[in-house]
Amino acid sequence: MKRLLPTSTAGSLPKPSWLAQPEVLWSPWKLQGQALIDGKQDALRLSLHEQQRAGIDIVSDGEQSRQHFVTTFIEHLDGVDFEKRETVKIRDRYEASVPTVVGAVARQKPVFVDDARFLRQQTDQPIKWALPGPMTMIDTLYDNHYKSREKLAWEFAAILNQEARELEAAGVDIIQFDEPAFNVFFDEVNDWGIATLERAIEGLKCETAVHICYGYGIKANTDWKKTLGSEWRQYEEIFPRLQKSSIDLVSLECHNSHVPMDLIELIRGKKVMVGAIDVATHTVETPEEVANTLRKALQFLDADKLYPCTNCGMTPLSRDVARGKLNALSAGADIIRRELSS
Ligand SMILES: [Zn+2]
Repeated sequence: MKRLLPTSTAGSLPKPSWLAQPEVLWSPWKLQGQALIDGKQDALRLSLHEQQRAGIDIVSDGEQSRQHFVTTFIEHLDGVDFEKRETVKIRDRYEASVPTVVGAVARQKPVFVDDARFLRQQTDQPIKWALPGPMTMIDTLYDNHYKSREKLAWEFAAILNQEARELEAAGVDIIQFDEPAFNVFFDEVNDWGIATLERAIEGLKCETAVHICYGYGIKANTDWKKTLGSEWRQYEEIFPRLQKSSIDLVSLECHNSHVPMDLIELIRGKKVMVGAIDVATHTVETPEEVANTLRKALQFLDADKLYPCTNCGMTPLSRDVARGKLNALSAGADIIRRELSS
């Protein structure tokens, strides 16, 4: 029988200090050439080991093989000039210097497939692999070619589908698309955002997930959260359409957030990766705090659809803190499993 409440993380985990600067988002690599390739594989082994020691059920590469959750994928595509940079406002929130789309976008060869195959060789546990979603990709670029957010999103969706099919063939059990932009551009999400996501997962037999959060614990995000009021109802805008979509799992930010838990009812039928670990604080949750969040979610979710998870990635945290949080997630899930079985 499948274990109830399978735990996982939303995405990135801290990188070892010999690979990248600790506690820094998007830090440059400290190694080069073959040493970098070896270093990334060693870091993946280490990250996997830490997840396993903490008892995490669905494991990942901890995103050890990439610098940035969006641009590392785009770097491998044709049509984007990384030298030509423009400052744009991303997620309608903060200014960032981003690469420019200068021609037709295309994928000549696999991006993460070798890394995923390597992870597959290291474990028999279910593995999850993260890709950026089409809307978040276009929102992290300056487009000087298509001149249409929607058109570019459809192009990226087709490219993501090629990559996803090869990840599936490499043995990935769950392919996750990161779409923090879904929490910002509601009209576009409903018009074409979810449709492009469905294009990205077309024909896949493995499970698929979408991660929709309020971002890493960086200042631009914590400042933004302060403007959102006492109830964060962003999910309400997109859940009805998402519920009708073909995506299997939805990964949400719940712990320490002001998201009313009853919104989960709007995606009835989906498996929900409930964020029960806050990534914006260095304070490690107690197992009971994790259990409390999971218990609240169970008021609106069947136990077989509850997937305890983190709110977002943990790259900016120290390795000690991240390890502590993984342990708390496992221990909190255990409390609820015991309650459910008694
Ligand atoms: Zn996130």
